[in-house]
Amino acid sequence: MIVQEDRNVTKELLKRYYSNHFEIEPLVNLIGLSGFSTREFGFDLGNNIFIRNLSFKTPTELVKFLGEKGVFQAYIGAVYDRGPSKENPIQKLNWIFREVVFDIDLDDFDSVRKCGCRGADQFCKECWSLIQDAMVFLDETLRLDFGFKELKWFFSGRRGVHCWIKDEFSKFLDQDQRAAIIDYLNLLPHDERLSPQFVEIPRFAKSLRDRIFSWISRSYFIHSTVDELKKLKFSQKDIENIKSYVLEKKDFKIEDYLQVVPDKINPTHLVNAIVVSRYPRIDRKVTIDTRRLLRIPRSIHRITGKVCVEIKELDNFYPDDAPSIFDFCAS
Ligand SMILES: [Zn+2]
Repeated sequence: MIVQEDRNVTKELLKRYYSNHFEIEPLVNLIGLSGFSTREFGFDLGNNIFIRNLSFKTPTELVKFLGEKGVFQAYIGAVYDRGPSKENPIQKLNWIFREVVFDIDLDDFDSVRKCGCRGADQFCKECWSLIQDAMVFLDETLRLDFGFKELKWFFSGRRGVHCWIKDEFSKFLDQDQRAAIIDYLNLLPHDERLSPQFVEIPRFAKSLRDRIFSWISRSYFIHSTVDELKKLKFSQKDIENIKSYVLEKKDFKIEDYLQVVPDKINPTHLVNAIVVSRYPRIDRKVTIDTRRLLRIPRSIHRITGKVCVEIKELDNFYPDDAPSIFDFCAS
């Protein structure tokens, strides 16, 4: 359950990893070369030294820096009209673009993790299913409701995942436009996470509503306890029927929902329970702040030593699948 590594991620190990094993291609594929030399980078160099406002002429120069410094955390920011530097920090530059990114962290689900895991360093298959559900839900919603086509998912190395949108037009969206996307997606106010109150699904968001009554509801019926369902007035027989139905029916639709939920159940209470228990929590600030630094793909998370790998199978990826620096460099 604890992901913290016993072995320490040392500067020496990091130098070896970034000099001999780090792959820059996933980053170049993600951001392209256009604007590379005027993009901001930031690094945790250890000993409480964090630097940002750095830029590199080429990816090769960046890799050289990573290997020479043995950076503890490596981040990438937005593209500006000139390359950020100590003399020209981003506050003095004009912002040109940054990809739209979504951040989902497991500790944002603490109030609904039933397994007992808490905080940033504990997870298990039961609570990680919340992240898997969130990825599948968000991926489909961004493609179908917003028309984004090129989405890439990455493990953040510890407790969460990032979704990057590669579609060209999205890079130029301003903070208000990004806020509008988040407002559509977030049904649970982020600052009320500890006692979440479901807002309500907007009337215009039919596809979002359908997705909740299919994918999220199925997941809720699989993961909910008998006691929880009994509180909502499901009988023991109802519960047995529903649990076996949803396990069989992978392609659970709104019609199935209407079929398995008895009329006696208060629909408002049930929908509230489904959304509060299983609906994705998305970090609003990460998406909206267009100058924010984000973890570089294939970089190392300093706490866990894990590589921030791309996630291909959203409903199947588990953090243990990601290699760690210790797999590449024996300590
Ligand atoms: Zn857990």
